[in-house]
Amino acid sequence: MNIQEAINNGQIKLKAKNIKTAELDCQILMSKVLNKDKKHLILNFHDKLLKKHLDYFNILINERATGKPIAYLLKKKDFWKYEFVVNKEVLIPRPDTEVLVEQVLELTKNKDRLHLLDIGIGSGCILLSILKEKKNFYGTGIDISNKSLNICKINIYNLGLIDRVKLFKSDIDNFNYGKYDLIISNPPYIKKYDLKCLEKDVIDFEPKKALDGGINGLSEINKVINKSSYLIKKSGFLILEIGFNQRNEVKKILNNNGFYIKKIIRDLANNDRCIISVKI
Ligand code: GLN
Repeated sequence: MNIQEAINNGQIKLKAKNIKTAELDCQILMSKVLNKDKKHLILNFHDKLLKKHLDYFNILINERATGKPIAYLLKKKDFWKYEFVVNKEVLIPRPDTEVLVEQVLELTKNKDRLHLLDIGIGSGCILLSILKEKKNFYGTGIDISNKSLNICKINIYNLGLIDRVKLFKSDIDNFNYGKYDLIISNPPYIKKYDLKCLEKDVIDFEPKKALDGGINGLSEINKVINKSSYLIKKSGFLILEIGFNQRNEVKKILNNNGFYIKKIIRDLANNDRCIISVKI
């Protein structure tokens, strides 16, 4: 069988499972199998595949057919300017979350030597992307999951940031270390009963702990804001990712905890996604 035939067969399997990106997914998985870029595939469509490559391709296609996200199959995801290692223990970095990085860089344009805290650091995509841009900033990350901290450590190492990041396994309630100039968090914010409405790829494969925001979707955001008011320096920034319909409720929680709202930023789909506040 040649490359083109294998891709066509893969596409039929994925389409049968209603996977909308069937063609692209097959190309990406074939690139992984052959360890070549997409251009190579297209130029060599008629090359015969070795059995070991065809077998590996079919394994990946069968996994993708169950809904397993491409990022988990590749064990990596591009975010901002970098490639992050991921596995099922961490949420896959979303393009919408790049808004947080952009905003932090804008807010800290003329600032030096800031200490940042990332609450629920996961893969590390937010904090590590910022530290790559700001060479004299320092970061602390906490997470409740040891397994996700292990992934984060790999990313810290790969990005050459071991000297500037500290990690702690802790939930936010029990974390009392340090005072920070800036705090970022993309906490779980989906209402428990809305979880089942998320896309199958998300809810069947991504860590529920990173998505489940309790009955009203605000339980983790609430804890993050509450604790941040103690961990943040006066006039420090708190930058949160929020759900598209949480703007007003989150504003209230922030105000009640001594923060004023500086800006609310929309994501690529024009939904409210990021709220920037300042500690009074
Ligand atoms: N944006 C994510 C999703 O829609 C949710 C992330 C979160 O709860 N922090 O799947």
